[in-house]
Amino acid sequence: MKITIHRGSKEIGGTCIELATSRTKILLDLGAPLSENSRNLDPKPLKVDAVLISHPHQDHYGLIEQLDEKTPVYLGVLGKSLIDATRIFLKREVPANNFKPFTRGNTFMVGDFTITPYLVDHSAVDAYAFLVEAEGQRIFYSGDFRAHGRKSVLFDRMIKNPPADIDLLFLEGTMLRRDNSEFPSEAHVQKKISELIRDQQNMSFLISSSQNIDRLVSAYKACIVTEKILVLDIYTAWVLELMNQVTRNVPDMSWDLIKVYTSNSQYQTMKASREYFGSFANRVWDSRVTMDGLQNRPADYLFFGKMSHFKTISRFKAQGGINLIYSQWQGYLKYSSKDYFGAEEIAALKDDPQVDFTYAHTSGHATLEDLQTFARAINPRALVPIHTEFADDYTGHFENVVSIEDGKPYDCYSIRS
Ligand SMILES: [Zn+2]
Ligand SMILES: [Zn+2]
Repeated sequence: MKITIHRGSKEIGGTCIELATSRTKILLDLGAPLSENSRNLDPKPLKVDAVLISHPHQDHYGLIEQLDEKTPVYLGVLGKSLIDATRIFLKREVPANNFKPFTRGNTFMVGDFTITPYLVDHSAVDAYAFLVEAEGQRIFYSGDFRAHGRKSVLFDRMIKNPPADIDLLFLEGTMLRRDNSEFPSEAHVQKKISELIRDQQNMSFLISSSQNIDRLVSAYKACIVTEKILVLDIYTAWVLELMNQVTRNVPDMSWDLIKVYTSNSQYQTMKASREYFGSFANRVWDSRVTMDGLQNRPADYLFFGKMSHFKTISRFKAQGGINLIYSQWQGYLKYSSKDYFGAEEIAALKDDPQVDFTYAHTSGHATLEDLQTFARAINPRALVPIHTEFADDYTGHFENVVSIEDGKPYDCYSIRS
């Protein structure tokens, strides 16, 4: 088997790894880059037989539409639904790729390759690692993962019963020089949210990703213990609707203590795609809260929003001091609003005397210690850095490190010889 990392050996995101036998060629992820200095990547000339997407984050699937539409793109069922939902709310076309769903633990074949997806704990749901076998060699791709979210049991199981006899492990290293000790787990975030909203005099806002389901659950649980009501926008309510098609373990808009604020622009989105939303478009009114309703009793509510909600935040700020709980990666606050709508407006609120701006977030990625536990359990013959800004640090932290540079083919047969 030959390996080429097209992108991702020295950066976080934009990941694309090619695995090739003499007859079959596949890609592990085909992400849009997060870094401005990233190398260019045009997937079409690679003429691959299939692409495997580890999870529905842009930095892992963002370039799939540049593929030939016939090329099979494998990903989880829920992951596909979430990608489509993002597009619908951005008023853009859904990807027209040749999608092939897989499910956890169920092995499938692509030409010479045998692939087994392992569900992992990450800030995106429906996230997978892959065991890929071909020509007597076994490769394990970690994808993005962690050991401290609400699905940490998946990490524990993997450590107890790791895939055996791995020749090469691609190991993500997002957290290599990042600290997660302020909020080591989702439970710590939930506790902080509860403390902040318990005695609020005005509405609190929590800024996070609607697809970070762990965080939504934390916000909901914080509302239960403080007797507050969680307010979602239509998009977030729809994400929970999609979740409920695969699991009954997460709250949705029909639950107590959840209300949906139906802004006009999202209402128009729903109206324009009535068939897509089905009965949800009617049921959402049963859970509705109006702006007047929110403004009459603001201290009753926690609003789960995004950077783009800065105008709503300003409206409540005019009524008195508010809590703004910033609950995602702090790096986004340095973005321009052109790259991340609302980023500059939210960043400016840090110095606003009317705003109690508090950071409460735990990473979607494993800490160094957990990465080391993971690497020891898998015990690969070669460990290759991926999804990291600090590939050079790996040799100091892990055994059997082999660095593969972007664009340089690597012969997998050399590992055992
Ligand atoms: Zn990533
Ligand atoms: Zn990710």
